[in-house]
Formats: sequence, structure tokens, C-alpha cells
Amino acid sequence: MNPQNNKPVRVRFAPSPTGNLHIGSLRTALFNWLFARHHNGTFLIRVEDTDVVRSTKEFEHSLMESLAWTGIISDEPLMYQASRMDLYRQFADQLLKENKAYKCFCTEVELQEKREATQERQDTYQYDKRCRALVDSDPSSPKPFVVRFKVVIESENFIFADDIKGQVSIPAEQVDDFVLLRSDGTVTYNFANVIDDNEMQITQVIRGEEHLFNTPKQILLYQAFGYQAPSYAHIPLILGPSGQKLSKRDGATSVVEYKKEGYLPQALCNYLVRLGWSHGDLEIFTQQEMIEHFSLQGINRSGAKFDIEKLKWVNSFYIKTLTPAAIIELFAKDLEKNIAQDTPDLTDAQRQAWVALYQDRSSTLKELYDQVVKSYNLPASYDWENLRKLIEKDAVIILQLLQQEFVNLEFEKHQLSEKVKAFCKLHNYKMSEIAQLLRFALTGSISGPSIFEMMVLLGSREVQKRISGVIAEF
Ligand code: GLU
Repeated sequence: MNPQNNKPVRVRFAPSPTGNLHIGSLRTALFNWLFARHHNGTFLIRVEDTDVVRSTKEFEHSLMESLAWTGIISDEPLMYQASRMDLYRQFADQLLKENKAYKCFCTEVELQEKREATQERQDTYQYDKRCRALVDSDPSSPKPFVVRFKVVIESENFIFADDIKGQVSIPAEQVDDFVLLRSDGTVTYNFANVIDDNEMQITQVIRGEEHLFNTPKQILLYQAFGYQAPSYAHIPLILGPSGQKLSKRDGATSVVEYKKEGYLPQALCNYLVRLGWSHGDLEIFTQQEMIEHFSLQGINRSGAKFDIEKLKWVNSFYIKTLTPAAIIELFAKDLEKNIAQDTPDLTDAQRQAWVALYQDRSSTLKELYDQVVKSYNLPASYDWENLRKLIEKDAVIILQLLQQEFVNLEFEKHQLSEKVKAFCKLHNYKMSEIAQLLRFALTGSISGPSIFEMMVLLGSREVQKRISGVIAEF
């Protein structure tokens, strides 16, 4: 039940298919979905495709795919606004008949001139309502017109309650006689939004705070039709590192980009839900825990800064929970990469072992994939600078001696480690130094996962070959 109006909870996510799913929109969808699940309610998706120029089927598919990837699907068939144009026109006619809306014949050129004039005066532009008093133009030469809503606000401010922001007050001068139908007969966002939310019996509108200034217009429309308005909750923006609204300049903003980079949907959702919402100091939530604890009261009133390092941390947490076999499947599904093609000589079991070796050290699937493929191949370059900081001389001699030690040795983790330990003791080296030198010879870098596990995976012949290869480079 909706705690405020005692109706079964029905919420919706209403994307416009004019781009890929933005991570801010995913968070909005998630908050709606969690709210529905928490209250045993219904979650719906409505496609706001009234902008025929910018809306495309490709974007719609991409949006739905991104939502489905994170497990968000509509509980009822999707609603498409573009197929409801006739209905919106009927509702506009009703308001015209009731004298709650009027035809406006001002041309775009006239309006633009007025907008520019107000800009020069540094005033807020508001339509001057001049067509309110007109009757229809001569029907024999019909002029193009838009349908405007007659806004009547008795006080200086329009005040409404918001479940996140508390009481919101919007200056009445910001709410002018807005357009319901454009001159080509298409419907505007505010008008279609109200008609559909009412028809879908939406009890709670949870959306981004960029819509805060639309809310008075929508509430006034509800009043004009005599409908009960839903309650509202406006979610603060996701901010970039500079404190401004997160934008492309700050890095990836769409869900598809995060998927391609190798973020897991559970991690992205966990991170996004936690961004601007909290339950004590819990950071990692199962889906069940999120549903159980979610409440609009837990959402902060101010914007939350997007922190990619924290997202990486959450992602690495979830990567650790998967089996190597599941990770290999995700390489194909999410990264669209074929690991068998990139590591042709390995068996499935060996591939899984390589994945297991790097699994705890990767913050994205892509990083993990690249590490495995990199280790499978001969080092493409060597980090000489760091090696020299570590061992000044003798490196070649040490490597040659180690090569001898490895001859006829069973390549098993424990045996290898005992052998190298004994070698260090005999020649008075630190184990860590020798491990780093070996790692350098095998991978080109002095840091990385356990050297002995790696040696087992590479096998004796490959280890000898790589050591000889690096010796020749000194
Ligand atoms: N189509 C609008 C958007 O994508 C929906 C806003 C709303 O939820 O009312 O921002």
C-alpha cells in the first residue's frame, strides 16, 4: 500500500528513447523498482516516444536491453505514448470546451522576439497570455495554432509536498500558460505524462529533480481534470567530480558503456542505489536486502558525487563472488570477447585457472580478461625501470642459475616455492626480490599474482623459454 493514500503502490519508469540509458536514469528506475517491490506493488515502464524526431527504435531496444541486463522489467505490457496521440487530442478538446485551455496563434517568430527581449532585460520569459482573450480565427483560412493551458495560481508561489525534498515552493511566475498540443498536433511531455500517469493509476511519481519545475504544471492539470494527483519524490542529481551535474566530460555516462567495460549489473546497481541513499553504513547489499531496507526517507536531499573508484571497489567485490566458469561466460556475453580464440592452446580448465589467478586482482571483467590474455602471450614489453630499482646487477646470472634449478623439476606450486626458497637461502637473496625478478621475466612486470601459481600454469617449457627470452634482452 502507498503509505500516503492507501492505494496499492503503482510506480513507473518513463524513459524517452532518445539515447542510451544514462546511469542517472538507471538509478531512477532502480529506486522505482525497489519502492514497488518493498511495498508489494507494481512497477511499470512507459516509453515516452512523442518526440518523433529524436526517438528511435534502436534507442528503445538499447534502453530495454540495459534495463533487462540489470533485472528491471515491467510487470505489465509497456505503454507507448506515440500510439496514443488521438487520445491526447481528445483530452485537449475537452479542456478547450471547458475553457481551461485555449488556442494560441502566436507564431514562433513572434515568440522568439519576445523571448529575446526579456533576455535583454534579464527577466524570466513568460508567455504574455495575449491569445487567452481571442476567439477562433476565421475557419475558412485556418491559421496554425498551439493549445495552451490556462494557468491560474492565486498566490505568489505554488507549493507542493515532495517525499524527498519536503515542502517545495515554486514562484508562480515560473509557471506560464504552457503548451499542451503543438501546432503539428503532437503532444507535449507535461500533458501526455499526466493523462498516462492517471490512466496507469500511478500512485507515486519518483523521478529526477530536473523535473521539479514541471510538477506544478502537472498538478494543475490533475486539478483541471478532477483527478487525484499522485505523490511526488524528486531524486537529487548525480554530480561529477567538479560538483556539476555528471556529464560525458566526466567519463562514461551510459549503462552500455559500463557493461562493455566489464562492470557487473549487480555491482552497478548496488553502487547506484547506495549513491545518494543509505541504510546505516552498509555498502554491499543483496537484492533482497535492498528491497527490505529501501525507503524514500533514506534518500539524501542533496546531490551525490559519482566516485568511479568506489564503483570499482564494489565491482571487484562482486567479481570475487563468481566462479571462473561464470566469468568466462560473461566475457562472451557482456564483453563480446572470445577467450578461446585469444588463448588457443589452453584447455577450458587452464583458462579457468588463469581467471582464478587474476580474479582477486581485477576491478573490471575487461581488466581481468586483458590480464589473462597478456599473461598467455609473451610479454610485449618489459618494465626495465622498476626492475633496475630492485636489482642492480647479477640479474642475468640469477636467472641462469634459476633456469638450472628448474630443469627436471616437477612444476607444482609447493615444489617450486621450496626450490626458490632454498636458492635464496644459499645465495643470500630475499625471497621477494627473486619472486619479482621471476615475475619480470615471465610477464614483463615486477608486480602481479603469485609467481608459483603462474609458473605452474605456464608450464616448464614456457617458463624456460620466457627466462631465456629476457636474458637475451639484457
Ligand atoms: N520522459 C521523462 C524523462 O525521461 C520522464 C519524466 C517523468 O518521470 O515524469 O525524463
